[in-house]
Amino acid sequence: MPSLPVGCRPPLRVFDFDQTSIWLFTRTVNLTDLSWQRIAALAPDTPIVFPIAAIEQHGLHLPVATDSMLLAEVVRRTNVLLPIESVLFGPLQWLGNSDHHLHFAGTLSAEPRGYIDMLNRMIDNAVQHGFRRIVFLNGHGGNDVPGRQAVFEARQRYRSRKDLLLLFTTYWDHAKPWFTRDDLVQRYMGHACEWETSMIQAIHPELVGDIDELEDVAAGFGFEPAYRGWITDDRTVAGHIGCPRHASPEKGEHLFTVYADSVAEFLRRVCDWDGQSFDR
Ligand SMILES: [Zn+2]
Repeated sequence: MPSLPVGCRPPLRVFDFDQTSIWLFTRTVNLTDLSWQRIAALAPDTPIVFPIAAIEQHGLHLPVATDSMLLAEVVRRTNVLLPIESVLFGPLQWLGNSDHHLHFAGTLSAEPRGYIDMLNRMIDNAVQHGFRRIVFLNGHGGNDVPGRQAVFEARQRYRSRKDLLLLFTTYWDHAKPWFTRDDLVQRYMGHACEWETSMIQAIHPELVGDIDELEDVAAGFGFEPAYRGWITDDRTVAGHIGCPRHASPEKGEHLFTVYADSVAEFLRRVCDWDGQSFDR
């Protein structure tokens, strides 16, 4: 185990996909490591952040746990940028809404209504335990609509409360990484794309398959501005959307840096909320 950086808590084993332990040097706090008494003492003004991701196909060249691995790394890097004990992180939820990928082997999915209900119960749990600032930090596109629906439904359920801040957000919406690196080919987050492939190359290069022969797959417009219902094989044969052959670990390192910086900035705004205003 590496030595402990100054100012950090003891390392905690929080994520394990392949029997290889990943140790986090946490400056904030993980719910799973605390007693109920310590958790109760953190409520009500400490934001509780639930990272939510997925296990689903990621093309011919990336592991199915890509979204969960990437979000875990964003959380790990965000952790060290925040003031000590300013945020309580829940355990990463790997089961997401991935029904649109189900015709690819290895995808594990909670169907949309069940997923919305699960997120609602997570909000109910947090509210029951006294928390008032509840954040879903998302790392999977399929969770976007059900996640927004869950916080919307919860707000109606707790409509007499004026002190609740119920948020859903996706990490890649917080930054425009091409502003500070001009060799990025894409201008959007795709799927198993240049960006996701680069980030997995940065943290798990041994899990990335051959990308040289993968053809670019355009995101397409799908009858915009209408929203078209779709399943993944309406759009791609191999499973990726975007330009994975342009990936590099250096690009991945850049993406992690800008996303961790911007998510930390966002969570500081949540900490600084005055407890009642709509805007912040
Ligand atoms: Zn993904």
